[in-house]
Amino acid sequence: MDEIRVRPAEPPSHGVMETNPRFGEFGGVFAPETLMAPLVELERAWIEFQQDKGFRQEIHRLLRAYAGRPTALSPAARLSERLGCEIWLKREDLLHTGAHKLNNTLGQCLMAKRMGKKRILAETGAGQHGVATATACALLGLECRIYMGAKDAQRQRPNLLRMRLLGAQVEVVRHGQRTLKDAINEAMRAWVGDPQNSHYVLGSALGPHPFPRIVAGFQEVIGREARRQMMDWGGGLPNKVVACVGGGSNAIGVFRGFLDDEDVELIGVEAGGHGIPSDKHAARFQGGWPGVLHGCYTWLLQDEDGQIRPTHSISAGLDYPAVGPEHAELQANGRARYEWADDREALKAFAMMAELEGILPALESSHAVAWVIREAEAMQGQKILINLSGRGDKDMDTVAGLMEMDS
Ligand SMILES: *Cc1c(COP(=O)(O)O)cnc(C)c1O
Repeated sequence: MDEIRVRPAEPPSHGVMETNPRFGEFGGVFAPETLMAPLVELERAWIEFQQDKGFRQEIHRLLRAYAGRPTALSPAARLSERLGCEIWLKREDLLHTGAHKLNNTLGQCLMAKRMGKKRILAETGAGQHGVATATACALLGLECRIYMGAKDAQRQRPNLLRMRLLGAQVEVVRHGQRTLKDAINEAMRAWVGDPQNSHYVLGSALGPHPFPRIVAGFQEVIGREARRQMMDWGGGLPNKVVACVGGGSNAIGVFRGFLDDEDVELIGVEAGGHGIPSDKHAARFQGGWPGVLHGCYTWLLQDEDGQIRPTHSISAGLDYPAVGPEHAELQANGRARYEWADDREALKAFAMMAELEGILPALESSHAVAWVIREAEAMQGQKILINLSGRGDKDMDTVAGLMEMDS
């Protein structure tokens, strides 16, 4: 929805919201009037459900009995030996549907069902969030409509088929750049058109308040578990926690478990694409500055006129021009820092994980591993927790193609 791209001269006050829409100076509700009512309703529901013991028990039960939580914490013995640091992996790749995304879609869909909504709307880029949403809808008996750019639908045909097999209706968006940004606009438009019966499941810790808080709230379970597991059998807190950052939901999920542990360094790794100087990347903190996109004031890749710049990454999940506002705040106050790894480094990390650990990580997650590999020399003997956000089966074609080209 183009109008929500425009930054108002004065940020709207949004006295109607009950909880703080801001993360420091970031975040907010830069939304057209028509979106305000559903956002206010959603915020109210979120406040209610956080205090509702029955709801918390039900989501806990779904995560255990269906999704496969708690996920394992694995020592990466051979990688550790190779690099000279002690590496631990939080295994979100073992979650049902192969990534952390299901934590959020199960939570939001359960919430929507309890709010009496009949239909779930969602956007998807590469299709991972669409599949996780369609899965939650099948489980909970909700109608599901997924918006996907025409270009993505073509590139990600297996996920398109998965969604349809799961009973979702996939709406292919044929205008704009025909990718994720256009799919988000379409999904929001559909929500505005029928807020009574529908809920919009946003896929990352992004967008207008209350979405960044809701998504992070459902992903927090990663950090809570990881901290407990490190204390129980990982020999105590890690020196560093490292996660890849697309919109930022897996990273904020794991970071939140360690925010109060001041000695634990938090490091987010963005997609360096072909390298920062090439301008073909998705490293918002390296080549961007703050602005408004999709309802939220945060770091963006944009040109001088505020037009969103095209992004590039080998991993579709990191290929987005904006970063979640809570990360913008953590960067501003210095609690976390944001680094990058490029396509080539991610591929190398992928190969090392496969050969040394018997794990094919998602190319997104490979960026976190890649940063650790690059910096290992300076971190000798340190204990490092990497959030392995997903598995790499979906990336086989990409990896096979590129590795052949490399040889
Ligand atoms: C979608 C995705 C990401 C990026 O999304 P975040 O919201 O930044 O976590 C990272 N890893 C995997 C495996 C994904 O599917």
